[in-house]
Amino acid sequence: MDPRFQNIVDKMRERQFRITPQRLAVLKILLATKAHPSAENIYEEVKKTFPTMSLATVYKTANLLREMGEISELALKDGSSRFDGNPRPHPHVVCARCKTIIDFDDLSLDSMTAEVARKTGFTISTHRLDFFGLCPLCQKAQST
Ligand SMILES: [Zn+2]
Ligand SMILES: [Zn+2]
Repeated sequence: MDPRFQNIVDKMRERQFRITPQRLAVLKILLATKAHPSAENIYEEVKKTFPTMSLATVYKTANLLREMGEISELALKDGSSRFDGNPRPHPHVVCARCKTIIDFDDLSLDSMTAEVARKTGFTISTHRLDFFGLCPLCQKAQST
């Protein structure tokens, strides 16, 4: 099993969070996906295995994981939000049309962060960098 999964489950137990198969399923999806799902996306996925699952359970579990610093939440301009199994800040590329979000890991912001700190005298704890545009599929849809 994924060591990170086991580690997080242990931490959830320490916090007296009731571990149910539904909550574990939410955690599993968040750790496995690169798709930055919304709570509704996760809900639809878990419901296939657990038909009695509620959307509130998804929110409760995701919010706990966010508080624990195990996942991050991306607020979109339209007021909706997406969840990301990677808690470390990293650049995102967002399609303005279909709202697809992908990670762009090739870009290291370490040197930029160091430069910002040096030039401003701030200590930098986090950063946020998003690129917006149209994904290849949406470009195609637009041109036809
Ligand atoms: Zn798109
Ligand atoms: Zn991401």
